[in-house]
Amino acid sequence: MGKFKLSCDEATMICDKSQYGEASFSEKLKLNFHVMFCKICKMYSQQNSKLTDIFKSKCSLNENKQKMSENDKSELSKQFQEMLKNNS
Ligand SMILES: [Zn+2]
Repeated sequence: MGKFKLSCDEATMICDKSQYGEASFSEKLKLNFHVMFCKICKMYSQQNSKLTDIFKSKCSLNENKQKMSENDKSELSKQFQEMLKNNS
């Protein structure tokens, strides 16, 4: 089972990949296993999915409006910066 264990570096890497839908099933499995025991990576993956949610909601909003206003864009990047600051 040695191969099943991830380092925190590997876990965050898979976390990033899965955010973009690039992680394989076994990678996600290993990541889930890792975050059960590792609080730091759990926080990291939660933070990552939060950011993805913001993008998704903004994107669907964008489809309805056809175009994202400059205001929305700066607001979004502001939210992004705040979250990164709060979590680092
Ligand atoms: Zn970890």
